[in-house]
Amino acid sequence: MFIAHFGVALAAKPLAPRASLGTLFLAAQFLDLLWPTLLMAGVERVELAPGAHPPLAFVHYPVSHSLLAVAGWALALGATHFAWRRDARAAVVVGALVASHWMLDLVVHAPDLPLLPAGGPRVGLGLWTMPIAALAIELAIFAAGLAVYVRATRPAGRGGTAGLAGLAVFLGAIQLGNAFGPPPPSVAAVAWVGQAQWLLVLAAWWIDRHRVPSAAGAGAMRGAAA
Ligand SMILES: [Zn+2]
Repeated sequence: MFIAHFGVALAAKPLAPRASLGTLFLAAQFLDLLWPTLLMAGVERVELAPGAHPPLAFVHYPVSHSLLAVAGWALALGATHFAWRRDARAAVVVGALVASHWMLDLVVHAPDLPLLPAGGPRVGLGLWTMPIAALAIELAIFAAGLAVYVRATRPAGRGGTAGLAGLAVFLGAIQLGNAFGPPPPSVAAVAWVGQAQWLLVLAAWWIDRHRVPSAAGAGAMRGAAA
């Protein structure tokens, strides 16, 4: 699952209007931002699975993707955000976004998501066996999230419009590339492409700086302060 995670982050903006979209992206995609570093460190393992959809076998990823570890990451990121910003509501949203990643992964993954870091049962509802349905659902979640973000904010200058449009097109292109493009040539390539996602966090932060709360978003801001 890829673009739907960013859709959920976009949709969270009115719930945490003072949090940057970069922060929301970081939270919603945190598990997949952590994962490439753990792959490179040899802590977690993925194997190429040519012909499968996606063409990867998630052999071992207990630190980034076991349910218990994810609960810990959600608490840790929420607590870190609260210590930094003193915004309880935003901290809860950040924690919930971290957890949302696992919930969305649960829908599409084969039963390869461990419940416990040490092993035990592995779960996954396997929607990826119906790639077109999975793609349609992901794109729908992203479009809905984008609509919510566009309604909650308005551009303050051209960067806020063109930047957001460019990011949306870029994310859509990656999603379609994942679905229909060639499989990754190596595990190292998977890890490096994964690391490049930090640039998406940076782009989201930059775009958010070029957008301000809309009338609807300002109402959400007052609600958050109350
Ligand atoms: Zn994931």
